[in-house]
Amino acid sequence: MTEPRFRNARLTDGRTVDIVIRDGLFAGFEAPAQTHDGEDLGGKLVLPGLIDGHIHLDKTFLGLPWRPHRAGPTVPHRIAAEKDGRADLPVSVEERAKTFLARETCLGTVALRSHVDIDPDSRLDHLHQVMAARDAFAGIIDVQLVAFPQSGVLIAPGVADLLDAALSDGAELIGGIDPVGIESDLDGHLDLIFDLAEKHGVGIDIHLHDPGHKGAQELRAIADRTAALGMQGKVTVSHAFALATVDDRTLDLTMTALRDADVAILTSAPGTGALIPVAALRAAGVRVFAGSDNVRDAWSPFGNGDMLERAMLVAYRAGLRTDDGIALAFDLATGAAAQAIGYGPYGLEVGARGDFIAVDAETLAEAVVDRPPRALVVKGGRAVARDGALV
Ligand SMILES: [Zn+2]
Repeated sequence: MTEPRFRNARLTDGRTVDIVIRDGLFAGFEAPAQTHDGEDLGGKLVLPGLIDGHIHLDKTFLGLPWRPHRAGPTVPHRIAAEKDGRADLPVSVEERAKTFLARETCLGTVALRSHVDIDPDSRLDHLHQVMAARDAFAGIIDVQLVAFPQSGVLIAPGVADLLDAALSDGAELIGGIDPVGIESDLDGHLDLIFDLAEKHGVGIDIHLHDPGHKGAQELRAIADRTAALGMQGKVTVSHAFALATVDDRTLDLTMTALRDADVAILTSAPGTGALIPVAALRAAGVRVFAGSDNVRDAWSPFGNGDMLERAMLVAYRAGLRTDDGIALAFDLATGAAAQAIGYGPYGLEVGARGDFIAVDAETLAEAVVDRPPRALVVKGGRAVARDGALV
């Protein structure tokens, strides 16, 4: 195999180096050589490849003409509006998913976790179409799929069997949704999800929007089961808005339970409501990572799949203004996310996957604040996007 060399790369510690990649892995960060082999990065800042911890490849309208937002204000409103609108979408799930993957790649994402709706109407259709899109991007961007019961399991006939089938078909994780707020049966929902996870030997990623003490109680119930079943490190709760709204004592109890069970928390730093206490969670030893969530779909017209921008939004909403604070937000979209979704070995170090982006920025903090264009995106030593276009 050839050894790609990317010359005159500037690292965040200020050093200028030549990056050598062997068999898809970083083999060296060497003093600049007197050679013209390889690609000259001209002193651009090099950052690790970005990781998007939570998207919905099957929901996006990307690739369609602009669609005005129509859904009402609550989660059930949005679920209903989304289903109503599916019928008149003129472009298939597979094609829209490919548009989304192309965009994420051009913005420097090298791996992502996508939830895919499994419901009584779409059954396994979205999953199979998203899998076809994933196959088309093999080697360009890594895609991990969650079988997601958007319309519930207990309240949606046949979905439990469909989830079982989705996991047999190759979905890597089982999803879940508001055990109390949507399903009205905390233990019933968790029994089902955790049983399927155990049966297929897969991880879990549960959407939990339920607020306040109800939501915090659900978080602790999830943590308890995770610990009891020995599933530490394999369970994520997405959103966990309750963490933003409970009193300090409840927050402490809940953070301790999450840390002890090694349950990860995903945030998209959404624009409504209070942000979960990202820095406090990290200080308490809870793994926190970031994802885009909805990108131009029936749930939200916002979002663009840019994880540098997502890091900026986390920092902005959390009031993280120092370079260290901004670096923490960046970690949610890189190292912490890679660890949470099990993508590794990861990072700008010898032996890790040869993934990086090159941008015009003076420092890491400036890159997050400015979100400069991605001049180059490299995955496994291979240039996959350049100046906003796939290679
Ligand atoms: Zn979501």
